[in-house]
Amino acid sequence: MLNVRRQLKEYATKLVTSGLVVGAGGNLSMRDGAYMYISPSGFDLQEIEEEQWVKVDIETGKVLSDLKPSSELLMHLECFRRRSDIDSVLHAHPSYSVGVSSASKDIPSMFPDFPAMIKNVKYLDYMIPTTHVLADAVAEVIEETDVVVMRNHGVLTVGKTMKEAYFFMQLTEEAAKVYTISSSVGIPRLLTEEECQDLKNLSSEKYRAKLLKNSQ
Ligand SMILES: [Zn+2]
Repeated sequence: MLNVRRQLKEYATKLVTSGLVVGAGGNLSMRDGAYMYISPSGFDLQEIEEEQWVKVDIETGKVLSDLKPSSELLMHLECFRRRSDIDSVLHAHPSYSVGVSSASKDIPSMFPDFPAMIKNVKYLDYMIPTTHVLADAVAEVIEETDVVVMRNHGVLTVGKTMKEAYFFMQLTEEAAKVYTISSSVGIPRLLTEEECQDLKNLSSEKYRAKLLKNSQ
């Protein structure tokens, strides 16, 4: 489906220009009925043409294109299989998120949008990328969250739309960046549990989350 591939191309370019991935790192996919389209292996994300996205049967995992799919295919398949409510999966290697989480820290809430828009970030310790082990670990937590941070590796986000998955990726990276800046200046003042809860309950924030889900 052209629209899906066009969106994939658009966001692949955004990922590179925003610095969330470098070179051939990172991968993204979208559901199209019983199938998904995923970035081919070994390509610089911004150089993938619309017709080069690899079609895969979600249930069987059978590859239906000539090009080889991303080596993280298994991880993407598990997300679509376990989350019928999402149509987009994004995996990147954003430096601040990888940096903070690799210091054995979780990314804290320091500004309102992060706790308001992202419920429940899950953290995975380092596992060798592209393996069943990592795909199984993601499968185990993806039903409870839209954001998985893999220490010493990267971040995976899912969304109803690619716009949403991309926004979750940006917000997570921004939160890690703000925490890093604050830590270099002094002692960061984190939002308290109560403050985070109030933000989650704010009707205007709920409205924004809903708006984002329905757009595109
Ligand atoms: Zn990766």
